[in-house]
Amino acid sequence: MSNIKSIGILTSGGDAPGMNAAIRAVTRAGIYSGFKVYGIYRGYKGLITDEIEEFSTQNVSNIIQRGGTILKTARCKEFETPEGRQCAYDVLKRHNIDSLCVIGGDGSLTGARYFANEFQLPIVGLPGTIDNDLAGTDTTIGYDTALNTIMECVDKIRDTATSHERLFFIEVMGRDAGFLALNGAIASGAEAAIIPEISTEVDQLAELIKNGFRKSKNSSIVLVAESPVTGGAMGLAQRVKDEYPNYDVRVSILGHLQRGGSPTAHDRIIASRMGAAAVDALLDDQRNVMIGIRNDEIVYVPFSKAIKKDKPINRDRLETLRRLSI
Ligand code: ADP
Repeated sequence: MSNIKSIGILTSGGDAPGMNAAIRAVTRAGIYSGFKVYGIYRGYKGLITDEIEEFSTQNVSNIIQRGGTILKTARCKEFETPEGRQCAYDVLKRHNIDSLCVIGGDGSLTGARYFANEFQLPIVGLPGTIDNDLAGTDTTIGYDTALNTIMECVDKIRDTATSHERLFFIEVMGRDAGFLALNGAIASGAEAAIIPEISTEVDQLAELIKNGFRKSKNSSIVLVAESPVTGGAMGLAQRVKDEYPNYDVRVSILGHLQRGGSPTAHDRIIASRMGAAAVDALLDDQRNVMIGIRNDEIVYVPFSKAIKKDKPINRDRLETLRRLSI
């Protein structure tokens, strides 16, 4: 059994729908198991500047349905230095906080890994990112909501694309990962997805044009993952204008609306399960692990594995998209 008595919770990096459900779950499961729970505001920044409040169960009432994060989030350059992390550790000690739960993406968990190793501090991570780009877990908190938002937006854009007989490039988030673009394309019946994972292997735009992607249709929608590797929607549209001037091409960049909104049932459920599992992990003396879900089971993924940036895209889905867009 562990001798941990308190847990600090923070959200860091890009916000994601479902972070509040995760904060609620860690707080309630923590208090249920006898821990003191502290909310740390503004991520690592607030940890260094001591923006910390003890949480009761009421602090997390009525938040499961809210997007964003009640703890706020921030980026913090200082935490990337050993001196900054020393300040953060001193603040934790002052409050007698002896473990941390970090909810965030790849950057936040990278920081957590350094911090845990330098100070022998038990840290458990929760994958909070719409990009789904953490390895060792099938999904991340916020990904399903963002996917649904993308699907609704593309449904709307399709009305215009069809009425005007246009080709639309719709840029979605993903930070160098194509999960949102590929699965968003399948969900919205788009013609194609241009994703970084295969952009270096094939010229996806040239292939689409070669195959005559409009065929019998009077409009086409292509989802593009934001990334220098794909060239983004603007870059691809410019190429079409230069190389294939017959196409009436338009661009829509969905941007920050993909991050917001009330989390879907799926995101609320995984955030709740992962939050409770984070407390179990601390009780079991597990440390330096990210909570993941694989085949609907909770798994504990070492930080080193989670942040490896090698989460493979499912190529069968690419093939499915191709077959269904004829
Ligand atoms: P995300 O967690 O969404 O990927 P960022 O990449 O912006 O977001 O990271 C969030 C924060 O995590 C950074 O502002 C910084 O404080 C911390 N962080 C990121 N990378 C590192 C690193 N290599 N070392 C220490 N801290 C880091």
